[in-house]
Amino acid sequence: MSATLLSSLEQHFGFKQFRQGQQQTIEQLLNNQSSLAIFPTGSGKSLCYQLTALHLPNLTLVVSPLLALMKDQISFLNDKGIYAASLDSSQTAEQSHTVMGDVRAGKVKILMVSVERFKNERFREFINQIAISMLVIDEAHCISEWGHNFRPDYLKLPRYREELNIPLVLLLTATATKKVKRDMSERFAIAPECIVQTGFYRSNLDLSVLSVKSADKSETLANIVREQQGPGIVYVTLQHTAEQVAEALSRQGLQAVAYHAGLEDTLRYGIQDDFMAGKINVVVATIAFGMGIDKSDIRFVIHYDLPKSIENYSQEIGRAGRDGQPSQCFTLANLDGLNTVENFVYGDTPELSGIEHVINDIRQHHDQQQHWEMQEYSLSSDSNIRQLALKTLLVQLEMQGAITPLYAYYADFKYKFLEDKATLLNHFDAARQEFLNLIFSHTQFKKVWGTLNFDSLTQGAQVDRKRVVAALDYLAEKNLIALETKRITQVYQVHSDVINNPELAPQLHDYFVDKEQAEIKRIAALIRFFELKTCLSYNLARYFDDNQAPQQCGHCSVCRGQAVTLEYSLEHRFVDDAVIYQKVDELLTHLASKGISNVGIETQCRFLAGMSVPLFARNKVRQLSGFGLCEQQRYSEIKTKLLAR
Ligand SMILES: [Zn+2]
Repeated sequence: MSATLLSSLEQHFGFKQFRQGQQQTIEQLLNNQSSLAIFPTGSGKSLCYQLTALHLPNLTLVVSPLLALMKDQISFLNDKGIYAASLDSSQTAEQSHTVMGDVRAGKVKILMVSVERFKNERFREFINQIAISMLVIDEAHCISEWGHNFRPDYLKLPRYREELNIPLVLLLTATATKKVKRDMSERFAIAPECIVQTGFYRSNLDLSVLSVKSADKSETLANIVREQQGPGIVYVTLQHTAEQVAEALSRQGLQAVAYHAGLEDTLRYGIQDDFMAGKINVVVATIAFGMGIDKSDIRFVIHYDLPKSIENYSQEIGRAGRDGQPSQCFTLANLDGLNTVENFVYGDTPELSGIEHVINDIRQHHDQQQHWEMQEYSLSSDSNIRQLALKTLLVQLEMQGAITPLYAYYADFKYKFLEDKATLLNHFDAARQEFLNLIFSHTQFKKVWGTLNFDSLTQGAQVDRKRVVAALDYLAEKNLIALETKRITQVYQVHSDVINNPELAPQLHDYFVDKEQAEIKRIAALIRFFELKTCLSYNLARYFDDNQAPQQCGHCSVCRGQAVTLEYSLEHRFVDDAVIYQKVDELLTHLASKGISNVGIETQCRFLAGMSVPLFARNKVRQLSGFGLCEQQRYSEIKTKLLAR
């Protein structure tokens, strides 16, 4: 087998030999063994599925969390003459119809989608009819609740795999602790011997942790950047810090550009392209930057603020020196930003009252068939649970057996004729003409666009919704109509016995509190890591279950005898208790005037800490002077104060 694989590697990709771990992974897959591959970023994980896909009879379906990653891989494959495509939100209807047609015809070898795509009933209708050889999950650690980047929708991937009857699975990730590794492989029944892990230790990365006061950070950063050769990334936590730091560097004559999620797409892509092309030397970025970047000669990565976790730290420094050349990684550390990092965690824990709101909504608003319909945005707003946490809650309700997702549909279907109606109907036989006329007669046309009234159509005429959607899709695919869909609605089957269990809400609340505490511990572990008295490289590798790294790397600040202790450097702005209580009372009065009572202690804490939750956005709470009053304090301190009131 290995000779065949090698010649296939050279023929399709032009490489003469495999990189570490690739051959074992590919051979396992071709031997029908589902596998988990843990390779550092930039060491050729993607090739494992790309080459394998060419030797499998049917489609390889790749689930990837980021559009930019998909686009890169697709253009790489297309350059090699391999037909890979994606179905994604950036495409026009015409583009996605072309892709779907080519998948059906067996021309597409590799299809890439986001996990959210599975909620789309049109996609599920489509993909159900396709024979799939292998499911590939990129950034597979997103499936683990114990990972640093948990994405609730990933928990459903094992079920999609079953539903679609996909025999083979490949999980890819760069970072996994022992616990996450076990979690991932159990969910897909991957045998321990089919886990392929290459070494985590990077001998060309020089790690330095510096204890720097907040007031000195800007100068320290400029001094470090000035000494570096080649391109680099400076990571910060908040968008406005990115702007400030880039400006400060530029004032010092060091060319630097800010990059964050708040910028226009075109501007962001422009910055990425310029950085790739070497026109921009330094990018000051929030963590949004880098996932789609495959630049091998990044010479330095500087953490201006504390990273979110050891996993984030390792991923971010991992972008340096992919060409194997020496590269520098600095962390400018103190404890001032600790509350900011922790607040990201606290803001995501739903209150018990919010969980009860969702559960009551399910109990009370399902129809006779026990179907419950949900639109994420409005439920998030009504329950005061942030959208990511709401997704987690819904997946947990699924896992508990309280609800089962049936399908998602677009509440709104709009279309216009691209051919006149009579000519269009002439393409079809009498029975189909009758069906199409039924659809057209339940459509309200305003000038050219018409809105389909699904309720009157499906209830009055006893028509199957799926058949209607399929028909409209077909017309759009044939360019007979232009179709627009909006407002995705998820429909669930409700299981009364479970949803009516009075213990359900408190149990789920406990789950979220446990998760919150685990995240807070993860942050504490990060602080401990930066304060280590033994080699940083060795401990970092061990954290990711790699015990092969040298015990003293000789290229980290601890090995150089410069271990640090982190400190608070800002003067603690003391807010008088009486003022705090007064501002909380103003909040309560304000909300009461909007008819909102029973405002929990968590909401009060979030108000003082300056965190955004749906309730605040809806009721203009940010305009109150107490919003963010205690933003320099740790959440736990604020809470203690309010509990003592
Ligand atoms: Zn060391």
